[in-house]
Parts: sequence; structure tokens; C-alpha cells
Amino acid sequence: MTRLYENVKTAAAALRLANRIVVTGHIRPDGDALGSMLALAIAATQAGKDAVATFGDPFCVPSQYDYLDTEWLLPPGSDFGEIDLLVVCDVAVPERLGNASRLIDEAKTVLVVDHHISNSGFGDITMIDPEAAATAELVFDLISELGWKITEAVAIALYTGLVTDTGRFQYSSTSPHVHRIAALLLEAGVQQDMIGQRLYEQSRFGYLGVAGTVLSRAQLDIEHSFVWSILRTSDLEENGIEHRDVESLIDLIRLPEEAQVACLVKEIEPGITRGSLRSRGIVDVAAVAAAFGGGGHHNASGFTFLGSPEEAIERIRGQL
Ligand code: 5GP
Ligand code: MN
Repeated sequence: MTRLYENVKTAAAALRLANRIVVTGHIRPDGDALGSMLALAIAATQAGKDAVATFGDPFCVPSQYDYLDTEWLLPPGSDFGEIDLLVVCDVAVPERLGNASRLIDEAKTVLVVDHHISNSGFGDITMIDPEAAATAELVFDLISELGWKITEAVAIALYTGLVTDTGRFQYSSTSPHVHRIAALLLEAGVQQDMIGQRLYEQSRFGYLGVAGTVLSRAQLDIEHSFVWSILRTSDLEENGIEHRDVESLIDLIRLPEEAQVACLVKEIEPGITRGSLRSRGIVDVAAVAAAFGGGGHHNASGFTFLGSPEEAIERIRGQL
């Protein structure tokens, strides 16, 4: 582990020096963004710092992450006082902070911890490693460098980031280092069966109705090796669930072996669409999302589009 050595030391020095620390991550946080920011906020508090976490509106935690210790999370509009250090986790560009981006101007120093290859290099101090499987991996390295304790609550948050961003320790980014970290986190008290069940084997009954409708709408475009479906807000209303309950639907859409690329297009409200893209490896879906002003990773990306789901699909097919 020499690849980041200097940056880790600089980042650790900034954390040691700071008293008032705010940790943040991207809007609509996933397991890695939530796990990374909570792990760092909790570890810093336990090390005697005045630390909290926040993320931009909508200030809503997806339901499957409700086992995380979220008492450190404050709404983005809170009065954070004088911020010595803002730590930005899992964010490639400042726009991905939504209305929490004001904190970049307010904080005395900004530290960016991230693993997106497309990271624009914003912030005063950067700890960026595109080879890291998750931002949580980098946060673990940072906490270790600081000598801060990995308590059970910190371990649960870090494990959440690792298990979600590695597709349950399956993607090519899952290095031996990741498995060693996971082993340490189990020793610190993580119950991986409980977390696995909550993340992957538990949903509200209405999810079955929504999944049934969305799966029955799926289309396969053999020519472009592309499978997609559309989620409408009415599907959610009819089944009594919310967007926060269907984060994993894309994992069903991506199953067909005939397709290299999968997309689930979600109607957020009339005229506003969000897309989730997944690739089997040949196609760079971060580039596909970038054409919509979105981004992400080679094999997993997303975007927001002002237009209908059908228009979004047609544009993607044009690109493939
Ligand atoms: P998901 O489909 O799970 O929402 O997002 C997959 C990945 O794409 C995320 O981990 C994140 O890295 C990236 N991503 C999703 N939406 C956006 C977006 O609007 N802009 C950018 N830059 N990246 C996104
Ligand atoms: Mn991530």
C-alpha cells in the first residue's frame, strides 16, 4: 500500500489539526457515500473532534440503510458554525453535492476523498485513488493512518461502503487489501449476515408489485446489446412505496445475458428523469452518462435528464 502514501499523510495531518469537522457525500447517497461519511464522522467524534455529517437535499436515507447509526447526520441547511475542515467523500465534481456545495466556500479547508477516475481534482487536499474499490476503503486507510479506533459503529459503516460498491466483494476492484479490511471489520464486530439480509434480502411488499411492473416493461435491443426498462412514479404510488425503496431494481434489469448494457430510467416527476446504467465491461457507461451531464464508473453510472424516459432511452441507443 504505497500508492497514496503522501496524500494519506497530508489528509491525516489536516484531520489531526481540525476541531470542527463536517463530512459530506454526494446527493442521493448510496452505501459507499453514506458509509464513508458516517464512518469518518463517528471515528472523528470518538477521537475527540466536534464532527457531524450531512448531504444535499433531498435529505433522505434509502430505507435499506436504516441500521446505520445516523444520529451524526444533520440536514444540509443546518448552522454548522465555523468549519475547520470539510471532508468530501465519494464525490467526483462539486455539483454532485447539490445544495451542500455551499460548504465548500464556507469551510477553511476542503479535503476530498474519492475513487472516481473522473474526479476533477477540486479541494485543497485530495486523496483520490481510482483503483480503490470504494471510498470506504480510502476512509479505512485514513482512519488507520490517524491511529483512530475502528469501533463497531465505524466498522458497520465502512463495511456497508465496501460490500455495496464491490457488488458483495465480486467486482474486479475487490483486491486482497479489500478482503483484509473486511476481515478487520468483522473482528471489530460487523455482523455481515445481518447487513447482507438488510441490503439484499429484505424489502417492502410493494417492491414486488413495482418490480413485476417494471420487469414486464423491459425491452431487449439485440442490435445494441442493450436492455432497459422504465419506472413510473405511478408504479410507486400504486404499490405504496417510494424511490428510496427501489434503489436495487437495476440489479434485476441487468440480468439478461444478451445485453452488455442495462439501463433503468426512473421518472422522478413529469419531465425529470433519472437513469441508472450498468455495463458488463466492454462499454464504458460513465461516458454514456457523461453525454447527459452525469457520470460515475466504467461499469456503473447515472444521470439526471430533463425530458421523458422514452427520450432518454432513444438518446442512449443513439450512443451505443
Ligand atoms: P446509481 O445508478 O446507483 O444511482 O449510480 C451508479 C453510480 O453512478 C454511482 O455510484 C455514482 O458514482 C454515479 N452517478 C450516479 N448518478 C450520477 C450523476 O448524476 N452524476 C455523476 N457524476 N455520477 C453519477
Ligand atoms: Mn463509491
